[in-house]
Amino acid sequence: MKISDSRIPGVFFLGLFFLSSLFAERTWTTTEGGRTVGELISIDGEQVTLLIEGREYIFPVSRFSAPDRAYLQNWQKEERCGVCRKKVGVEKMQAGERVFHSKCFSCLVCERPFLDRQPIRRDEWGGMVHSEHFRHAHSCGSCGRLFSAKRAKLEQIYADGRVSCLVCLRESVNDVATLDAVAKRVRGGMAELGLPTPVGPLTMRLVDQKTLNQEVERVHGRGSLRGLTLTTFRTVTGGPKAGTSFTHQVWVLAGLPVVECVSVLAHEFGHVWLNENFIDMSPPSVEGFCNLLSMHALNKDTSKLADILRKNLAMSEDRVYGRGFREMDKKLQKLGWPGLIRDLSTRRVPLSKRAR
Ligand SMILES: [Zn+2]
Ligand SMILES: [Zn+2]
Ligand SMILES: [Zn+2]
Ligand SMILES: [Zn+2]
Repeated sequence: MKISDSRIPGVFFLGLFFLSSLFAERTWTTTEGGRTVGELISIDGEQVTLLIEGREYIFPVSRFSAPDRAYLQNWQKEERCGVCRKKVGVEKMQAGERVFHSKCFSCLVCERPFLDRQPIRRDEWGGMVHSEHFRHAHSCGSCGRLFSAKRAKLEQIYADGRVSCLVCLRESVNDVATLDAVAKRVRGGMAELGLPTPVGPLTMRLVDQKTLNQEVERVHGRGSLRGLTLTTFRTVTGGPKAGTSFTHQVWVLAGLPVVECVSVLAHEFGHVWLNENFIDMSPPSVEGFCNLLSMHALNKDTSKLADILRKNLAMSEDRVYGRGFREMDKKLQKLGWPGLIRDLSTRRVPLSKRAR
């Protein structure tokens, strides 16, 4: 009798333990009373990362209610594993500033733990591989997440050679209906800035990398090669139909996650606006302006992927895209959006004065 009695608390405790490890999610309340269910991933200074439906989002600590902020403060007091985020005990591994459970501190490819002084490659998501096993790993073309090539699912490897992690794959844009929805979102953001919808008809196509590269080469373009805008215009002089009409074709790489597709479309719609207004500028100014629109669209997204894409845009070393963005951004800081758009509109070059 006594023996079975003493077992009950043990079994009960075990049950609780499983529950808490399976449901690390909790309900978070913002200062305005909004609620979100998510798992706490990390706290980095004033930034809190939550995992919500498989995607990581970043929020400022100040967004949360007082009880949530107290919870965050307590959570932070514990030393936590850089991979599974659970508390680490005495048996831990230290790598740089981060600590890990010894079983978590292992290679994604060979699944063996890292030994002292073994060179490691890591991504921004907690994934790590032995440097010597890096060639057996794939790095997601959108978010940079590392995964084992051997264990990758067939659909993670696109026919044109691009690779995608499972998180990005789950929200990849592969059909025109989804692309239309993304375009609507992008247009909403541009309308806020006072940029109108294009006058001429615009068709969008989802294409693979090879098709996109070939077309870019054909039109002697250059680019980040995730999207392309082809505008044709016809000018009729004299008569009742006098004026210029436009037709736009926007090509976007198929299979990009929604956030990245938003960024690409915002960039391409920037070209559409510049083209319809005959705004002629140097390539860095053109691409820089279009990247400003990408940045504006990405700023509306609190996901960690959006944060990575913003950093890539801002820190790109490309002479045209990176430098162009930083120069245009300086202008934006000085003039604000209405001022910048007015300033660009003065660079309108009539067709008759164009070289081509
Ligand atoms: Zn761990
Ligand atoms: Zn390994
Ligand atoms: Zn990814
Ligand atoms: Zn461009």
